[in-house]
Amino acid sequence: MLGREYYKTHTEQVKQRIKKWRDEDPNRVKAHNVVKWAIKSGKIIRPTICQCCGEYSDRLEAHHHSYQPEYWLDVKFLCVSCHRQLHEDLIKQGKELT
Ligand SMILES: [Zn+2]
Ligand SMILES: [Zn+2]
Repeated sequence: MLGREYYKTHTEQVKQRIKKWRDEDPNRVKAHNVVKWAIKSGKIIRPTICQCCGEYSDRLEAHHHSYQPEYWLDVKFLCVSCHRQLHEDLIKQGKELT
């Protein structure tokens, strides 16, 4: 109920935020879809070792250096905690990507 109430009273803010997110980086969704497709089709082998800390994980996440088309397949596979840490660092530097 809280969520619905929030949406009702903040509809404009929520819409604006989604629009801003899309306008800021229209390539974001495409970049993620390309990686998903590449893994599925065998173009990229998803590793099981985090490229940052070396821990084993079968749920590594793809991190993009950039969302420009030439970097769509230029990803790092990181465990959840390294990925989160990396993003905290990027936010501090004022240049966050997913
Ligand atoms: Zn890691
Ligand atoms: Zn990332």
